[in-house]
Amino acid sequence: MLIHVCCAPDLLTTLFHVKDAEFFFYNPNIQPPLEYRKREDAVRIVASYFSLKVIFGEYSVDEVKRWYSIVRDYRDLGEGSERCRRCISFLLERTAQEALKRGYNFFSTTLLASPKKDLSMIEEIGRVLEKKYGVVFYFKNFRKKGAYQEGVRLSRELGIYRQNYCGCVFSLLERKRRKPHVEASRENNSL
Ligand code: SF4
Repeated sequence: MLIHVCCAPDLLTTLFHVKDAEFFFYNPNIQPPLEYRKREDAVRIVASYFSLKVIFGEYSVDEVKRWYSIVRDYRDLGEGSERCRRCISFLLERTAQEALKRGYNFFSTTLLASPKKDLSMIEEIGRVLEKKYGVVFYFKNFRKKGAYQEGVRLSRELGIYRQNYCGCVFSLLERKRRKPHVEASRENNSL
């Protein structure tokens, strides 16, 4: 099985359920690039700690533009909207293609471990891609059976970076609008 990895904290939660897989970190939705590097580094730490095989996908200006062209018309709709459906579909389509290329029978995503994601939306997307590529989408609520709590505990133990917004620049701006005082104090502390 090939599992798309969105971030290290969700990877740690997913590992509670699935270890015997190859992983694929592919996220041109993450902005700015410095944030992408922080999340990539965190995944490298987890990969090294658990001896995981992780493929690091493309992250380039062209790839980010390709992602942006998919969500552009829906950018103001907010988290959980059609924007996210298109974004997740983009990430999982690339994962299904990679799984097919590498001869895997299954693909999945650590987004199924994220407490803020709509699992039924992810499953719908996975089933559409399953039909298109002939690779089965492995669906499971990865947060269950204490996995989420275990993921949080492990990420603290390993000192793993935990992001505070989903990933795209729109979600970053939405967070700043929701919690302006938190962001202001962060900025002051970093001066
Ligand atoms: S909020 Fe997250 S899932 Fe939605 S478009 Fe942005 S990065 Fe993608």
